[in-house]
Amino acid sequence: MSVRTPLIAGNWKMYKTCGESVKSAQQLKSLVEGVTGTDIMIAPTFTSLEPVFNAIKGSRINLGGQNLHWKTEGAFTGEISGDMLKSAGCSFVIIGHSERRQLFGETDESVNKKITAALSCGLKPVFCIGESEAERDSNLTFSVLDKQVQAGLRGFVSDDLKDLVLAYEPIWAIGTGKTATSEQAQEVHTFLRASTAKQFDDALAQSMRILYGGSVKPANVAELMSMPDIDGALVGGASLDPETFSQIIKF
Ligand code: PEP
Repeated sequence: MSVRTPLIAGNWKMYKTCGESVKSAQQLKSLVEGVTGTDIMIAPTFTSLEPVFNAIKGSRINLGGQNLHWKTEGAFTGEISGDMLKSAGCSFVIIGHSERRQLFGETDESVNKKITAALSCGLKPVFCIGESEAERDSNLTFSVLDKQVQAGLRGFVSDDLKDLVLAYEPIWAIGTGKTATSEQAQEVHTFLRASTAKQFDDALAQSMRILYGGSVKPANVAELMSMPDIDGALVGGASLDPETFSQIIKF
């Protein structure tokens, strides 16, 4: 069990219309009414942000964006800025999700700029990293993750990163039903904490929340959360159904 406040975050990806998002948010709000001691976040699509924010008011559920642009405004058709996310009620933003990296050309450099943009407008970044199956099979997991962290956090000092959340999401476990074992995840989280201590300092390494993501479900969340360096979960598929997601939140 971690000593940090757990964060259970739901990434709704490109699912749910506005009406469906609001209905799910209202259901989740009543399902988690008695929850204490765990932070909760949901990240609906951009068009649903403000209506969902209104639906979760008065609850302990936080709102997150799924992406942002690194500029504050400009001629960037189809993009959204950190201030726009904030004004819609967001306090978190997911950055560098593997789907963004694989399908939309995001790089460690663009991720670095997005983390800068998020922090400068007061959004808490959920910075996603992860190795592919081929990289794991070639024993490259640690070097790939180290490079992603070093490059994503280049230019920052420890003090800048107090609100940053790291999310370890092995690509081979996302949406596949394959979960890293709790030992595999713990091994990586230990490594990430040690490499954060090396790149920054021990205080940041000890306070930074590191989430695990990849086919987290009610059936496996308790075991994952029993590990000392797993501070929460970033949940895709299983966050879409409020009842299922609330069971994960109540791990
Ligand atoms: C994700 O997309 O961040 C994720 C972890 O998805 P899933 O839970 O569906 O594997």
